[in-house]
Amino acid sequence: MQVIENVLNLLYPRRCPICDEVLKYKECKNLIHEECKKKIKYIGSHVCMKCGKAMRTSEDAEYCDDCLKIRHRFKRGFSVFSYRSISGSIYKFKYLGRREYADFYAKATVKKFGKELDRLRIDAIIPVPMYKEKQYARGYNQAEIYAKKLSELTGIPLRDDVIVRKRQTRPMKELDLRERRNNLKKAFNIVRNDVEFKCILIIDDIYTTGSTIDEIAHEFQMAGVENVYFLTLAIGQTT
Ligand SMILES: [Zn+2]
Ligand SMILES: [Zn+2]
Repeated sequence: MQVIENVLNLLYPRRCPICDEVLKYKECKNLIHEECKKKIKYIGSHVCMKCGKAMRTSEDAEYCDDCLKIRHRFKRGFSVFSYRSISGSIYKFKYLGRREYADFYAKATVKKFGKELDRLRIDAIIPVPMYKEKQYARGYNQAEIYAKKLSELTGIPLRDDVIVRKRQTRPMKELDLRERRNNLKKAFNIVRNDVEFKCILIIDDIYTTGSTIDEIAHEFQMAGVENVYFLTLAIGQTT
């Protein structure tokens, strides 16, 4: 395996997920430059018990302001990085074909949440699906790539054949909160009738309002799934 990996690194040089420079042979093992690693901000332990957003140290409430306003359908969410410190990296991962970044992302995720994921007894990892034409145009679904790596490291089965995105919704950033919710109505469909999971983990790259994840959670709840958790690479501050 090591030989194959070395050859692959020669053919497709692995890049650092922060500065995007090609990693030297010795650096490849860590998947990132030591110096670049210091620039990343992880989400700490003082978080909203619903969405997983970082809370100010002065706040001692259980939930963030956003989660107090909206009743989410998911049970709880987890995010690895503070959005601002990793947004450039995610952009390249998403739009510039830097799929290899997923190796670092997944490794960092398991380091932070491995035990928690074990404890939750998750039956399946479900990436947020992309509309098929959009995925065809981009060549890949970044959430799926990240989810696949997570599945490899945790041993939790990846299921990317259960839910599909039926139509393309308007870009979320163009919409206000109410429009976002309407925009997502019935955008997702469960395409199997043998869903037997009790507990799932939905995977996406960035958590914003949670409306996409709520919509998917709803579909799974209708299919009998009891516990829906989510995990995203990055999350911002309270809006
Ligand atoms: Zn670097
Ligand atoms: Zn929250």
